[in-house]
Amino acid sequence: MTSPLAPSDTNCAAPATTAADTVPSNDDPRTAAWIKLQDGNRRWARGSTDAVHARSPQRRADLVAGQTPFAMILSCADSRVPAELVFDQGLGDLFVVRTAGHAVDDTVLGSLEYAVAVLGVDLVLVLGHEGCGAVAATAAAVRGADAPGGYVRGIVERLSLHVGAAHHAGVHENLDLSRWHAGATADLLQQRSSVLREAVFHGQVAVRAATYELGSGLVVPVGTRPAAADTRAAGLVGTREEAPASPLVPTP
Ligand SMILES: [Zn+2]
Repeated sequence: MTSPLAPSDTNCAAPATTAADTVPSNDDPRTAAWIKLQDGNRRWARGSTDAVHARSPQRRADLVAGQTPFAMILSCADSRVPAELVFDQGLGDLFVVRTAGHAVDDTVLGSLEYAVAVLGVDLVLVLGHEGCGAVAATAAAVRGADAPGGYVRGIVERLSLHVGAAHHAGVHENLDLSRWHAGATADLLQQRSSVLREAVFHGQVAVRAATYELGSGLVVPVGTRPAAADTRAAGLVGTREEAPASPLVPTP
């Protein structure tokens, strides 16, 4: 399945010199983490698994003393997108934060900074998905429908800037909106969190975005790039289609 959205980006300017100047090799932990997720997703898509031992009582016992997950996943809470299953990973492999529409708030950012600064994950992945109800509800509200009530409204409000920007750029189909939103959320994490920006700058962690296809079970990358050193001019509207993908997060 292809999308009219090319690898995306914000319109923030890149710092003059960053760790991203060096393209990581497959030996780089950031790249290895992404390859590990991709390999696991291919197993999931074809109905196989290598994670039996990683979900065993022995593994459970081994992890009582502590955890060293290699990646953090920020994904939608949708019951059809469980990160450990769709990436065929085991106990202790992934630090997972899930909210409806992977909406970002202070506790999400705090969890992100814990994963990066304390657990030392090699990769932060934002995972949207096909058929996202939170994205659909936000798109309807942006087009003028009544916003949901209660605290669901807060989710729509948090997604509305991304969805509104996508609409402004001519993106309207649900999966394309989810791809846009995933890329924009990866950018947003870097804009909001100085801990993440510093870790990216020093080559300690990579940030990626992707969407999950419900039918095929496949995860499709969305391009992002490291945050600008100066985020004052950063925005979420603009040249996502034209911007190059980062060498730090090459799109396979
Ligand atoms: Zn969703």
